[in-house]
Amino acid sequence: MHVVVIGAGIAGASSAYFLARAGVRVTVVDAGLHRASGVPSALINPVRGQSGGVDARALEGMAFTWALLRELGAAGWAVPHGQTGVLRPIPDDRARARFERNLPAALRHGWLPPADAPEALAPGWAHVLHLPEGGWVDGPAFADALVRASGARVVWARAQEWTARTVTLAGADTLHADAVVFCGGSVGSAWRGEAGTHRMGTLLTLDRAVAGVPVSFGAYLAPAAAGGVLGATFETPAPTWAPEVLPLGSLGWLLGKGEALTGLRGARVTGRWTGSRLSGLRAGVQADGSWRLSGLSSKGFLLGPLLAHELAGQVRASLDAPDPRPAG
Ligand SMILES: Cc1cc2nc3c(=O)[nH]c(=O)nc-3n(C[C@H](O)[C@H](O)[C@H](O)COP(=O)(O)OP(=O)(O)OC[C@H]3O[C@@H](n4cnc5c(N)ncnc54)[C@H](O)[C@@H]3O)c2cc1C
Repeated sequence: MHVVVIGAGIAGASSAYFLARAGVRVTVVDAGLHRASGVPSALINPVRGQSGGVDARALEGMAFTWALLRELGAAGWAVPHGQTGVLRPIPDDRARARFERNLPAALRHGWLPPADAPEALAPGWAHVLHLPEGGWVDGPAFADALVRASGARVVWARAQEWTARTVTLAGADTLHADAVVFCGGSVGSAWRGEAGTHRMGTLLTLDRAVAGVPVSFGAYLAPAAAGGVLGATFETPAPTWAPEVLPLGSLGWLLGKGEALTGLRGARVTGRWTGSRLSGLRAGVQADGSWRLSGLSSKGFLLGPLLAHELAGQVRASLDAPDPRPAG
């Protein structure tokens, strides 16, 4: 059995890994461009945004992602990450009440006065939500380790078109497979000409981690494999993918957010990474018979591996089922 996965971000890489583990031969086709999963340090944070929304599958997804990282590490595929916990500074009592309404009973958490937080915060925060099971992960190292551990053949090319069983590459070569899984993220959806909601954001890389425990409200400070990051997805949502830019005003906004969280404490900016993420989860078989996992929004590393595991199980089951097409 042979499956072609289009896209080597966290969605495609996890799909390739779990398909291979289910005994399927996998080919990954990736254009090598504009991968949101290249984010240098991604939070594993179950409590989202500035209203504290918790996805119905956030706890399951978080546990699954940590278990997968442990599994990769045990197999010799070390991925920089830290289950350090996450701190959510909260500006006032009303915001705390909003967060409290959303916290599921099963989520381990604690409320701290800012003075007792494990990271010194800038003045002005009223409360701190401590999420001890959260943390951070090196996005590209995670995705790359999954592809390598899957043993998949990797074809660096752009897929121009595909059906349930064929993928036509730029240059006109055609790959044949028993199933095709599209995990093209923001840029892939735009290349398909689809309408969507795309949001661009930027991480500034820092010469050292300002906070050993990630701090997140509106933007985040987190450790990274080398040094740290200050980042956020904050540009106005757009109907299509656009080339990565960091307007000067956005740079000022982001640095201001860093100051408001903890202050940058003398850390120096060493570079920047900009990417675009796609909203609107699509997971499962599509009308044309191909499969898809896309639209992971801001939760690619929180939910991507879990959803890819489920998708791989469904693809495998469909390959085991009798072929409904007439013989001949
Ligand atoms: C600034 C920013 C910060 C973020 N922070 C976090 C965070 O803290 N925590 C978190 O969980 N998530 C975070 N995210 C979201 C996360 O990065 C995404 O949800 C996730 O990476 C999406 O993964 P994906 O595999 O769907 O797509 P991608 O990672 O974009 O991968 C798609 C791949 O498919 C390739 N491709 C597309 N079309 C084709 C084609 N036709 N042929 C061949 N190849 C193709 C592309 O070149 C690309 O390599 C952040 C995103 C941004 C932008």
